[in-house]
Amino acid sequence: MNDYFLNLNSTNKNSLIKDMYRYAKDNNVPIISDEGLVYLLQLIRLTNAKKILEVGTAIGYSAIQMAMIDENIHIDTIERDMDAYNIAIFNINKAKLNNNIHVILKDGLTVTKNDLMGTKNYGYDLIFIDAAKAQYKNFFNLFTPYLKKGGIVVCDNLMFHGLVGLPQDEKDKQVTTKNLKGLVRKIEEFNEWLSKQKGYKTDFLRIGDGMSVSVKL
Ligand code: SAH
Ligand code: MG
Repeated sequence: MNDYFLNLNSTNKNSLIKDMYRYAKDNNVPIISDEGLVYLLQLIRLTNAKKILEVGTAIGYSAIQMAMIDENIHIDTIERDMDAYNIAIFNINKAKLNNNIHVILKDGLTVTKNDLMGTKNYGYDLIFIDAAKAQYKNFFNLFTPYLKKGGIVVCDNLMFHGLVGLPQDEKDKQVTTKNLKGLVRKIEEFNEWLSKQKGYKTDFLRIGDGMSVSVKL
């Protein structure tokens, strides 16, 4: 997206948000793209989502942005990295959102129903998957049983810096290391798999680093 449109989009830019944004850029924390954020927040407003599960908290940037929409929003968010977790807790306290955001310090794949506050009543309205890209299928399978019918799953970074879905000759040039090759293949497999999930209608959007939006049918 060019900056002209981006500048027209107003997102909350209080001093905490500005500090977090700067911190993320200075420390290579892969927070959601500006455009992805605008879209995600609007989805939450449009669908009136109140119970949200996020996989991949990092420093709490996207969770705080989502929780600032509305005081009735409750977010469970999962982070496995202790340093990121501590920074997220600090930021969430600073934002006075500790009643709205519950951070779970665990590997997402080991999270059980008991860890998830949002499962206590009726499950989630929206699940935002934004952690280890090779695990998306596992996260999807693990957490979507807790998603309400009509609920939404958003997955981030499905184009992985534009490396996903390239024609083979371009891929050979740009995707050189073994690790990267494996990761790109995993994301491509996930995209393909997701597009064929019978219980969901999924759109793949060229927003930010590539985002999918699936509705549970
Ligand atoms: N959603 C955040 C960015 C998350 S970056 C935002 O937009 O502001 C991805 C985060 O996922 C990293 O902090 C990483 O430590 C975490 N992560 C990666 N794999 C994970 C896993 N298996 N379980 C829990 N967290 C994981
Ligand atoms: Mg992301």
